[in-house]
Amino acid sequence: MKKPLVDKYGRVHDYLRVSLIEKCNLRCRYCMPENPDWTPKEELCTTQELLQLMDLFISMGVSKVRLTGGEPLVRKDFDVILKHLAKKEVELSMTTNGLLIDRHISLLKDNGLRKINVSLDTLIPGRFEMITRRTGFETVMRNIRHLVDEDFRVKVNVVIMRGMNDDELTDFIEWTRNLPLTVRFIEFMPFDGNRWDDEKMVSLAEMKERISERFEIMKLEDGPNDTTKHYRVPGFVGKFGIISSMTEHFCGSCNRIRLLANGSIKNCLFSTNETDLLTLIRKGEDPEPVIRSVIWKKKPSHAGRFNIAKQENRSMVTIGG
Ligand code: SF4
Repeated sequence: MKKPLVDKYGRVHDYLRVSLIEKCNLRCRYCMPENPDWTPKEELCTTQELLQLMDLFISMGVSKVRLTGGEPLVRKDFDVILKHLAKKEVELSMTTNGLLIDRHISLLKDNGLRKINVSLDTLIPGRFEMITRRTGFETVMRNIRHLVDEDFRVKVNVVIMRGMNDDELTDFIEWTRNLPLTVRFIEFMPFDGNRWDDEKMVSLAEMKERISERFEIMKLEDGPNDTTKHYRVPGFVGKFGIISSMTEHFCGSCNRIRLLANGSIKNCLFSTNETDLLTLIRKGEDPEPVIRSVIWKKKPSHAGRFNIAKQENRSMVTIGG
């Protein structure tokens, strides 16, 4: 094993989030702009190029790989990629919108991908169509229960937006009374084309206050690199958490690198710089020194709640969270 990927603050980067594809079968308003700026096909990684880059990161100490998108399950060679990764010494996980889970559940089980985050921002069918600009609510709900029944570790990601779904905080928590899953409320973040506005963001503090009006909550212990602050309502089977990138960031223990579908890397979700590795490997050059320098130069934290809103950044659909 080569020496790990460390930045100048001593943070070890062993968690690779891979956006397999920019395309998605939903059109969530906070994620996909009205007119997405797709990367031309020839500028996207082929299967072999993606595997080559992921193997390189694994050789540099990456021990956790999360597959994201767009929607990872719409990538036609998803099975090839998963079977390749299943042979590696890595912990596999995936973030999906849940629509296609039933068609892939055996493949996921057979290849050891049992940690699934499903994005679902409402428990109201009509509101689902309003947020996603597509149908499919019942399918997603059915697939979430299917995953739970099949003993997958399930987290449900909910982007809380004021005036859109912030009235469902306690309904989602009620869902954890008998279901062994984790609901995670995400502070609304600014990305290209999602019309972010500070007014629409509901902070960690406000969410906790509103939840505590209805439920007694107890703080749970969080993991060393956790992005989520975890809680449980006493007696409930499941738990919930809050991801407070905007108001109480967790950059100090960040171990994440993002590989985009065009073979570029971002050393931070909010970094405005991207480094193209695809051109290097197509020229037969070794991207390792470049990767190490990109990680070394990583900033201590994101530029702060108001500044990142002013910065150019990609749309969420082309980063994968
Ligand atoms: S904002 Fe950037 S540095 Fe902070 S936790 Fe997220 S990816 Fe890491």
